[in-house]
Amino acid sequence: MTTIREEDFVGSIADAFQFISFYHPADYIRDLHAAYEREESPAARDAMAQILVNSRMSAEGHRPICQDTGIAIAFIRAGMDVRWDTKKSLEELVNEGVRRAYTDKDNPLRASMLADPDGKRKSTGDNTPAVTHVELVPGDKVEVIVAAKGGGSENKSKFAMLLPSDSIVDWVLSVVPTMGADWCPPGMLSLGIGGSPEKAMLIAKWGMMEPMDMHELKARGPGNRAEELRIEIYDKVNALGIGAQGLGGLSTVLDVKVKDYPTHAASKPVALLPNCAASRHAHFVLDGTGPAKLQAPSLDDWPKLTFDTSTSRRVDLDTLTKAEIATWKAGERLLLSGKLLTGRDAAHKRLTDMMNRGEKLPVDLANRFIYYVGPVDAVREEVVGPAGPTTSSRMDKFVEPVLARTGLIGMVGKSERGPVAIEAIRKHGAVYCIAVGGAAYLVSKAIKGSRMLAFEDLGMEAIREFDVKDMPVTVAVDSQGNAVHKSGPAEWRARIGKIPVAVV
Ligand code: SF4
Repeated sequence: MTTIREEDFVGSIADAFQFISFYHPADYIRDLHAAYEREESPAARDAMAQILVNSRMSAEGHRPICQDTGIAIAFIRAGMDVRWDTKKSLEELVNEGVRRAYTDKDNPLRASMLADPDGKRKSTGDNTPAVTHVELVPGDKVEVIVAAKGGGSENKSKFAMLLPSDSIVDWVLSVVPTMGADWCPPGMLSLGIGGSPEKAMLIAKWGMMEPMDMHELKARGPGNRAEELRIEIYDKVNALGIGAQGLGGLSTVLDVKVKDYPTHAASKPVALLPNCAASRHAHFVLDGTGPAKLQAPSLDDWPKLTFDTSTSRRVDLDTLTKAEIATWKAGERLLLSGKLLTGRDAAHKRLTDMMNRGEKLPVDLANRFIYYVGPVDAVREEVVGPAGPTTSSRMDKFVEPVLARTGLIGMVGKSERGPVAIEAIRKHGAVYCIAVGGAAYLVSKAIKGSRMLAFEDLGMEAIREFDVKDMPVTVAVDSQGNAVHKSGPAEWRARIGKIPVAVV
C-alpha cells in the first residue's frame, strides 16, 4: 500500500498551479506556431505573434500568461490501494494547494473567485475554492490533472440535449459563431457526447486536458466515429473564418477533442467547451516517494519571433480629439501612448448608479479612453502585473449612458461588441479598440506608470490611471460603426469558400 503525505500532495498542487500560470504546454506552442506560419490574414497573424511573444516572455519571467489566472480545477484519480496521511478531505487539500499557489510572494496570481455569486459577489481572497473531481480507480498511485480556466472561455461553454437524429456537426457550426471571440481563439474545442447532462460536461472537460494531436490524427486517419467527428469539426470550424481573436483568418481551432459515453435511447446530450489562448493544464502522478517534479520546458520550444509594429499609427491619448478618431478605420493598428483609465464590470456599475442618483463622479471621463482590465498585482520592479483586456461585451449595456453623460471617447477591451454598443459608439463618434486576449504580460510592458484614482475597495476592478507607451491595439469598431469582428470573419469565410456566407 502506498502512503501519500499531506505535504507532498498540497505542495505538488501548489507547484502545478504556479507552473501552468507561466508555461504554456509545449504542444500548444508547437501548433500555434504552425498555425502562425500558415496564416494569411495579417490581423490574425499579428494577434498570434503577440500570443507567442507573450508566452515566451512569461516563460522567461515566470509571470502569468494572462491576467485572468483562472478558476482552479483539479481532476484526481486516486488508487484504491492508497493510504492518505492526513485528516483533511481531498477537496481541502486541493484548496490548500491553490491558496498557496495564488498567494505566492514571487508570482502572485489573480484571485478571481467570488463567494455569494448571486449576492455580494465578494472575493474569497485566495482563489479558493477549486472545483475538484475525484475518481477512485484500481492501483496504488494518485494521478492528478490541474487546470486554470479563464472566465472568458468558461463563459462560452455550451450544452444541448439534441434529438437522437440531430447532427452534432450542424449544432457545433450553429453555436460556434455565436461564441464570437470572447473565448480568445485560437484554441481548442472539446466535445462530450452522451451520458447524462453533467456527464457530457465532465467528459468534455476531461478531453480538453489531452495533448494536441490533430496533425498526427489527420496523418494516420480516423479509427472510430469520435475521431471522424474530430476531423470534420476541425475542418468546418476553421472554414468559418473566425480566426485568431475573431479578426478573420484561417485558424480558429488548433485541435478538436471528442469524448463519448453511452446514453439513453431517447437522448443525445452534447457539451462543447472551448479552451482559450491561455491553455493551462499540467499532469502529475504521486507514488508515495515525494512531491511531483514538473519538468520545465526548454525555451527552444518557443519560436524566436519579434512583434512588428512598423505599420501601426502612433496615438497620443493626452491630446486626442474626436476629429482625429474619426479618421481611424476598423482594422487599423495603433500604438497608444499617454494616460489611459481602467475600469471594468463593478466600476461601470458603480459609475452608472452614481450618475443615476445625480452624484458627482470621482473621475472626469471627458475626452478619455478607458481600458477594461483587472490586472494581476505587481511584484518587484513591475509597475503592474500582467494586464490583458477583459471581455468587452459585459460592459455593452453601460456604453450608451457612459458615452452620453461623461464625454468618454474611447474604450479598449477584447472581442466584439453587441449591436447596442456599436450603435452608441457610432452615435457619439467614439471608438472601440481591442488588445490581444492572452497577451497580458506583453501588454503590461507598455504600462510605465499606474496610480489609483477611485473605488480602491474594488481591488483589481478599481479605477486606475495607467501611463502607457506604445500599447498595441487594433480599431475594432470605428466611429462610423464599422466592426472588424463582422467584416473580418465574413471576408475570410468567403475566401476559404467552403461554407456559404449568410446574408444578414
Ligand atoms: S486568454 Fe482570454 S479567455 Fe483565456 S484566460 Fe485570458 S482573457 Fe480569459
